[in-house]
Amino acid sequence: MRKKIVAGNWKMNLDYNEGISLFSEIVNMVKDERKGDQLAIICSPFVHLNSLAKLGGNDVKIGAQNISDKESGAYTGETSAKMVKSVGAEYVILGHSERRQYFAESDELLAAKTKTALANGLTPIFCIGETLDERNNGSYYEVLKKQLVEGIFGLTEEDFKKIVIAYEPVWAIGTGLTASPEQAQDIHAFIRSEIEANYGFNVADDTTILYGGSCNPGNAASLFSQKDIDGGLIGGASLKSRDFTDIIKALN
Ligand code: PEP
Repeated sequence: MRKKIVAGNWKMNLDYNEGISLFSEIVNMVKDERKGDQLAIICSPFVHLNSLAKLGGNDVKIGAQNISDKESGAYTGETSAKMVKSVGAEYVILGHSERRQYFAESDELLAAKTKTALANGLTPIFCIGETLDERNNGSYYEVLKKQLVEGIFGLTEEDFKKIVIAYEPVWAIGTGLTASPEQAQDIHAFIRSEIEANYGFNVADDTTILYGGSCNPGNAASLFSQKDIDGGLIGGASLKSRDFTDIIKALN
């Protein structure tokens, strides 16, 4: 059975006290709104993780926004999957377009990070998405397929079954532009068919595929009502407790 998930991506926002205060509000609100089988996740900067994991309990799970591809050693400034796991985080966003674009993270590096995450018991939320140029010139199916093949289709079936995928058109992230429910459904169905071609129907049917890109309380319900959209990865709206909770309420 596919999990329904709403995951927040705080990006590089909120100092420690602001993070604790927003998260406490979110936990209190989500407690009343979340239905039993739905999952709420907040992916925070590293400095918040330990405290948030203690506050979140079963109501809101915690994730990081990055990890090193290395296990440990002389890599100044890096944070390992094992460290993230040891403070109570269970998820990690990998392949976000901001990391691909601003930090030149390649498909090869992301494949290595995905394996490291899984080896340390973290669930990757693996993002793929096309730019506006790629959408306009019609190459987007190819682009998305390459990100899938080089990033995660090398995983064993056992490992692949543990991951969550997020489709995030780059042109919709933080821009206020949203893919229409039909555009998003078209891509989610494409992703599911590619999974089926590699891992078979049952794995494809069970994989959670989130939509991300200017998702908000006004458009969440129409996106989440599409048959291949299993929830959302939420940037800006996850910084407001009411908006984030209203998006969770829109899960069907
Ligand atoms: C994101 O960065 O993952 C995202 C979806 O951002 P926003 O909701 O702000 O477009």
